[in-house]
Amino acid sequence: MSKDTVLKKYAALVMDEDADVVDVLQNVLHYYSRESCGHCAPCRVGTSMLVKIIDRLASFEGEKDNLDQLLKISKVMRDTSFCPVGQAPYSPISSALRNFQDQLLQHVK
Ligand code: SF4
Repeated sequence: MSKDTVLKKYAALVMDEDADVVDVLQNVLHYYSRESCGHCAPCRVGTSMLVKIIDRLASFEGEKDNLDQLLKISKVMRDTSFCPVGQAPYSPISSALRNFQDQLLQHVK
């Protein structure tokens, strides 16, 4: 493989039509929070913040601003975290907001 070869890694989550995107995000974000080693602040603090927000949404206690906060926090994490654990949450969050915003809004009080 040449040095110029670009490796791209993809992940896919397969859900049936009954899946609740907030449940899915809650599982994903708790996973990254558990996996964070705490070495760098964006991931250590960011995963904790994302978990608090998604737990509020899962309890139907969220506010509309929480959706923007999820996106902004995960974008900073993507751009500043040291390794893929901190960089990864942006993709499922941005995808959920792009494709399932109606479901997410149902969790806002
Ligand atoms: S981004 Fe990687 S190095 Fe930084 S805290 Fe998360 S797991 Fe640790």
